[in-house]
Amino acid sequence: MYYNSLNKNLKKRFGCKVYKLALDGHMTCPNRDGKIDTRGCIFCLGGSGEFAQSGLDTAEQIEAAKRLVSGKIQSGRYIAYFQNYTNTYADTEYLEKIFTQAIRHPDIAALSVATRPDCLEDSKISLLQRLSEIKPVTVELGLQTIHEKTARYIRRGYPLEVYDSAVDRLRRAAIEVVTHVILYLPGETEQMMLDTIRHVCRGGINGIKLQLLHVLCGTDLEKDYRDGKFTLPDMDEYISMLEKCISIIPPEIVIHRLTGDGAKKYLVAPLWSADKKRVLNSINAAFERDDIVQGSSN
Ligand code: SF4
Repeated sequence: MYYNSLNKNLKKRFGCKVYKLALDGHMTCPNRDGKIDTRGCIFCLGGSGEFAQSGLDTAEQIEAAKRLVSGKIQSGRYIAYFQNYTNTYADTEYLEKIFTQAIRHPDIAALSVATRPDCLEDSKISLLQRLSEIKPVTVELGLQTIHEKTARYIRRGYPLEVYDSAVDRLRRAAIEVVTHVILYLPGETEQMMLDTIRHVCRGGINGIKLQLLHVLCGTDLEKDYRDGKFTLPDMDEYISMLEKCISIIPPEIVIHRLTGDGAKKYLVAPLWSADKKRVLNSINAAFERDDIVQGSSN
């Protein structure tokens, strides 16, 4: 069993365990503030940075987040992770201020910025490029799927070309790209999911996050789920799908995530995914048993 996991990669790169600190850049999202839509993506409960320290400035948040993980990490190396909502949805001067504060902090080893590809104007990419000369910078893009029909259903709010162009411009600026893909979106076949994986890998990304669709309470997705419009896989089916994905992902691409990471208290389905430790142990045992090697069917 071999796959290029984020933990292994960070250890190799920085020589020790590196922990992500979730920070809040106090931005919203064009899919929520009315610029594109007011409803948000169909599965979204409102950004995903549940551990981010709202209300504080960047330096204060770093200190507060460090205190939160101080029992788990001894090495003192961290990634400043702007995770909540769309973290380039502000003017460049503001972004420069908060990102510089983060990247210049002595305990911060790298900067990671989660955003939408339609919020990456050239001036913002230039800023990220300048910052990447100080410490490594990664941009995470929530593509979820390459299929336009699904993208319309989930209300993503931009076409695939926008993602392709953002990846291309980020790569030319030597900024690392991690793409988020959601598996088992309603209406998607196994072939469609694998086509998404193949497309994003061809684009030359550095990392990928694979996430099983989570139905969260209070979302429009929950209504469709309760109306029986789609079903979700059991754990064995999901692991079998993951094995197919891993086999076609080139070995140099870092696997940042293999399962969901949502807030348990809002989870409606699939409930088996709430026990993350059990799921990850089952994934690793299955990969071992089936001798899964990343990129072996590439
Ligand atoms: S782009 Fe992100 S924050 Fe905005 S609605 Fe979609 S999932 Fe939520």
